[in-house]
Amino acid sequence: MSQLSFDQRSNPNARSAAEREQVLANPGFGQTFTDHMVSIDFTEGVGWHDARLEPYGPLVLDPATSVFHYAQEVFEGLKAYRQAGGSIVAFRPLANAARFNRSCARLAMPELPEEVFVESLELLVQADRDWVPTTEGHSLYLRPFTIATQVGMGVNYPSKTFRYMVIASPSASYFASGVKAVKVWLSTEYTRAAPGGTGFAKCGGNYAAAFVAQRQAVQNGCDQVVWLDAFEHRHVEEMGGMNLFFVRGDRLVTPPLTGTLLAGITRDSILTFAADLGLTAEEGKITIEEWQAGCASGEITEVFACGTAAIVTPVGSVKGADREWTIGDGTPGPVTMRVREELLGIQYGTRPDPHGWVHKIC
Ligand SMILES: *Cc1c(COP(=O)(O)O)cnc(C)c1O
Repeated sequence: MSQLSFDQRSNPNARSAAEREQVLANPGFGQTFTDHMVSIDFTEGVGWHDARLEPYGPLVLDPATSVFHYAQEVFEGLKAYRQAGGSIVAFRPLANAARFNRSCARLAMPELPEEVFVESLELLVQADRDWVPTTEGHSLYLRPFTIATQVGMGVNYPSKTFRYMVIASPSASYFASGVKAVKVWLSTEYTRAAPGGTGFAKCGGNYAAAFVAQRQAVQNGCDQVVWLDAFEHRHVEEMGGMNLFFVRGDRLVTPPLTGTLLAGITRDSILTFAADLGLTAEEGKITIEEWQAGCASGEITEVFACGTAAIVTPVGSVKGADREWTIGDGTPGPVTMRVREELLGIQYGTRPDPHGWVHKIC
């Protein structure tokens, strides 16, 4: 068990029930934060110390703090769901804890004991339980992260001091439009990740490098970027915040984890529960030419993206610099919707949880 004990200080300026209800009526995604946050400091030679639950508020950091200059930062994203019986649960938080530590290791940052990670989420959700939405499909998005806090610009060494934090934000679905098929942009100009790089780590730097392509996607009338391999820009990798599945009849295929993709927990869950729905699911490589030809021949019937924020989102059409096509009839397909309903059913407790993924918080 963890030897850290959390100091708990409640927020004297917590918002009123009326103010909270106003936010919860229309929460958007990641825009408003709850009344508390978790902080734990790390010092080399001492380890993790000063664990605390405290009022949510701004940080005061020296402008020479390492994270501002060298982007030594990793994060996680998961949700707390209010189930029909009133319980509040998280979905596979230990899987997030394990991935967080894989990201930390890649960025030369200290790992956090998995039980401390889970305890930090539990404390914050318990303190701010009234912020967990009751509206169907809404949830409390949890954002754990660690930053390098050492002051100084020497780059010969990684930081020796860090801060881990958790903040929480009531959220509606990521795509405001609900379950609408998205249009995706094939990025052949930019690369998200290359072998030996940080593609498998959930770090802010990956996102910083992706914004320019996301802007290009929007300029081309698309919602999201599809990233391709770094060498040929032909093999499909992921969407930079969501993993992709290709539906061939009752077969689901998703690109393999070659080190350049983020190992989504939603992706892993779908690979695991597909058999429960009578579908087969496997990893397999696919090029953009195979994707286009598969849609033309009708062999690829649907494509969907998946992730904690996006849940399961149908992909309706694809555009690239020199090509453009529609998937099926461009609208959400039946396999996509079955997968989506199964996942939401497990998370909200309206379907059985045969794999033991639901973690009760309170
Ligand atoms: C977080 C993330 C995903 C989705 O992971 P989940 O665990 O399913 O939420 C996919 N790709 C990238 C790059 C991500 O950062």
